[in-house]
Amino acid sequence: MLEMPFVGIGSFFRTDLRDRWEDVDIALVGVPTDVGLSHRPGARYGPQAMRFQSGLIRYINPFTRVIPYELARVADIGDVSIENIFHLDRAVDEIFAFYQRVHAAGLVPVTAGGDHSITYPILKALAADGPLALIHFDTHHDTTGPLKGSRFHHGATFRNAIEEGLIDPKRTVQIGIRDPYGEIARPFAEAAGVTVIDMATFDEDGLAKTVERIRNVVGTSRVYISFDVDVLDPAYAPGTGTPVVGGLTSREAMRILHGLRGLDVIGGDVVEVSPPFDPTGMTALAGAQMMFEILCLAAEAHAQRAKQTS
Ligand code: MN
Ligand code: MN
Repeated sequence: MLEMPFVGIGSFFRTDLRDRWEDVDIALVGVPTDVGLSHRPGARYGPQAMRFQSGLIRYINPFTRVIPYELARVADIGDVSIENIFHLDRAVDEIFAFYQRVHAAGLVPVTAGGDHSITYPILKALAADGPLALIHFDTHHDTTGPLKGSRFHHGATFRNAIEEGLIDPKRTVQIGIRDPYGEIARPFAEAAGVTVIDMATFDEDGLAKTVERIRNVVGTSRVYISFDVDVLDPAYAPGTGTPVVGGLTSREAMRILHGLRGLDVIGGDVVEVSPPFDPTGMTALAGAQMMFEILCLAAEAHAQRAKQTS
């Protein structure tokens, strides 16, 4: 990590690339597929772009001073190899099978997508021991039903996860919502008991109260963090499939994430980075930064769990 950012084969945060999973606590993973998208394609290039931009992020978190690599053994285990890349349903099964192996090996996965459809099979694998709490950053609820003959598209991820008991809606919180499809998606989320902190509520409440509400919803549960980069205002993250103006600044999103230290984070992802719409690479950099923040939270949680079991 002391090498120059432009030297060598790009891995997430310049961590070791590993085919073998022994001696790994936290696995950084790419899922390069965007077959679940409903609009502008390109998120399949997200992992490559985020690996490249993540070379700018150094080993220490300059805001919290956390060094995740002192708390956990972290490695880039590469991309999920998807054989049936043209078939969304089969791709979902393959991603599920991969994360079942990750979970069985005792690894905590921190993932770069890919479109948001990839989160459903990840949750399905990680919820093997019971439903999870969820912190979901997004413009969109992603709780619409089937669309054009598919129930696995990127706008249905959390409806599927709730219907199948993968996440507990009472311990699920959505932040940054300003969903153009809200009239379709919001009734399901609210009826299920999801806590929705939409942009108007965030503006009203401010950072401290928002963080407090998230922490109250999650409590001491095992929690997954899913970060759709379109939660950021398109000024900060133009490179995404379904941008909507009026979102969080990068700084606000980071301050919320910094407020989540101490929660029992058991994985997370950053999805919907779409390099073809990201000419400056800054959406991929923002995505990589959020991934690093999630890595720091996961590393602290891992160290906490290790302390409790020793
Ligand atoms: Mn989403
Ligand atoms: Mn979204």
